[in-house]
Amino acid sequence: MRMILIGPPGAGKGTQAQNLVTQFGIPHISSGDMLREAVAAGTELGKTAADFMKRGALVPDDVVIGMVIERIGKPDCARGFMLDGFPRTRPQAEALDEALARASVALDAVVLIEVADELIRERVTGRRSDPVTGAIYHIKYKPPPPEVVDRLVHRADDTEVACSERLDKYHRDTAPIIPFYAARGLLKRVDGVGTPEEVLMRITAALQTVQSTSPTSAQDQAAPDQADQADQADQADQAAS
Ligand code: AMP
Repeated sequence: MRMILIGPPGAGKGTQAQNLVTQFGIPHISSGDMLREAVAAGTELGKTAADFMKRGALVPDDVVIGMVIERIGKPDCARGFMLDGFPRTRPQAEALDEALARASVALDAVVLIEVADELIRERVTGRRSDPVTGAIYHIKYKPPPPEVVDRLVHRADDTEVACSERLDKYHRDTAPIIPFYAARGLLKRVDGVGTPEEVLMRITAALQTVQSTSPTSAQDQAAPDQADQADQADQADQAAS
C-alpha cells in the first residue's frame, strides 16, 4: 500500500498514521519528524529548516522534496509506505508523481482527514509534551499529572501565532493538492472529528475500496486488532494531534 495522509496541522494525522502503518506493515514517513531529527542532529538541512519551522512556515520545496524522495527510494519502502506531512504543496505533489513514475509504481490512496479550524486551534495550542516519557497531554482534554507539569514542553510551533500561520499555509499551499488527487480518483475524505478509534474505523472503511498495487496487497487484508493499537497510540495523543 502506497498512501498519503493529508490534513490540517493537528487533525490527528500522526496518531492515525501510527495505527495504519501497523495495520499495513509499511514504514511511516513523516516529513515533520525527519526535519525535526535533522534540526536536532545539526545537519546542514536541519540548519536550513530550523528558522522556517520555528515560524510555522513551510520549509522550501527543494529541501523537502530531495529529503523525502531519497527516503522512499530506500529498500523498506519497496512494499509501500505511508507519507505523513508530504506532499504539502503542488510542486511537492508533482515531484512525487514524477519520482514514482520513474520507479514505475503508483500511489494507491490519499486519505484526507477533515477537521474545522476552530477545533484545530483548541487542540494544538493546548498540547504539551513530556520530554522525559514522551507522553503528550492537553491542558483541557488530557490534563497532565501534577508531578510532571513543571517539565512539560510547549512545542514552538504549537503556539497561537504559529498555529494560525500553519493553518493559513495549509489552506493556501496544501489544500490545492486535494483537487490534484481527487482528479486522479485517489482521494478518500474522512471526518476527523471524534475519538481516534472512530476516525481509524472511518479510514479503514474508506481504504477497503482501494485495490493496492504494491506487493503488500494480500497482507493488507489481514488487519490486526485495531482497537488495541488505537488504545496504545492514541491515549497519549487524542487531544493533541
Ligand atoms: P509537521 O510535524 O508535519 O506539522 O511539520 C512541522 C513543520 O515542519 C512544518 O510546520 C513545516 O515547517 C515543516 N514541514 C514538514 N513537512 C513539510 C513539507 N512537506 N513541506 C514543507 N515544510 C514541511
